[in-house]
Amino acid sequence: MPNRDTTAVPNRDRNCGLIVHIGGAEHLDDWVEDVPATGRLLAEHFWPGPLTLVLRRGPRVPLEATGGLQTVAVRVPDHPVALALLAAFDGGVTAPSANRFGSVSPTTADHVCAELADAVDFVLDGGPCEVGVESTIVDATGDVPTILRPGGVTREDLEAVLGSPLAVPSTSRVRVPGQHPSHYAPRARVVLVEPEKVIAEAELAHELGHQVGVFLPAAFADYAVKAHAVVTVPESMAAYARGLYGFLRELDRQECDLMVASLPEEGLGLAIANRLRRAAGPRSTV
Ligand code: AMP
Ligand code: MG
Repeated sequence: MPNRDTTAVPNRDRNCGLIVHIGGAEHLDDWVEDVPATGRLLAEHFWPGPLTLVLRRGPRVPLEATGGLQTVAVRVPDHPVALALLAAFDGGVTAPSANRFGSVSPTTADHVCAELADAVDFVLDGGPCEVGVESTIVDATGDVPTILRPGGVTREDLEAVLGSPLAVPSTSRVRVPGQHPSHYAPRARVVLVEPEKVIAEAELAHELGHQVGVFLPAAFADYAVKAHAVVTVPESMAAYARGLYGFLRELDRQECDLMVASLPEEGLGLAIANRLRRAAGPRSTV
């Protein structure tokens, strides 16, 4: 474990755990205890990849890395630069995402530099993120795994490998930052409406004098919407997930004060919808 405080720069809530990144599934037992068969199956199938498993903390993991919990979040990233770094370090790297806590996640080195250039010594640029949205976090401590945060691996993918349904998550307490009502938030306010109401809502706000940024559904791509800035939502959910944070950042850069979007519903769209809901969430609770 590195000694440098990786939570200091993002100004992160210290009661929330970090992800411990490891170089391969074969290192899993160095960091966790009592891995259920389902957890091992998911690790073997999806690693390296955008799946984080919450398992019982092994003694090598400091409580600072787990937000004081007796569980630890572990994953193997699917990127040659990250894997080379982990192999060279030969340990676990606890790393928050390279942005200020609660704001839009970065998906390129430029995003990181724009936000943190003055606060960090070095940015290792591995190119733009392939998946775009964060990893799926699965609590695999019990016999029936639960999704704590939807992400790059879909529920359908997980259930296909397990051969059975996942458990329904309890909403009783905030356990991960991705579950705060407001997270991934741009500067502009985000308003969510049905896809067929996006244009009317955006044009009304435009008439009222707002600097409106529109997430234009692909079905209406040809419509010349009256607004300050427009991004056309890609039809492919993979492309949308990859572009989402860039779109939010771009509309902020163009100084929109309001963004109008709708929620996709299936597969990777669930992770996108989760991020958009939190981007639209009440800000005061962070
Ligand atoms: P991020 O680095 O922004 O993708 O956030 C890492 C995620 O892992 C956060 O949502 C953390 O709260 C979550 N996490 C870390 N440790 C645990 C844990 N022991 N149990 C549940 N979630 C965790
Ligand atoms: Mg993050």
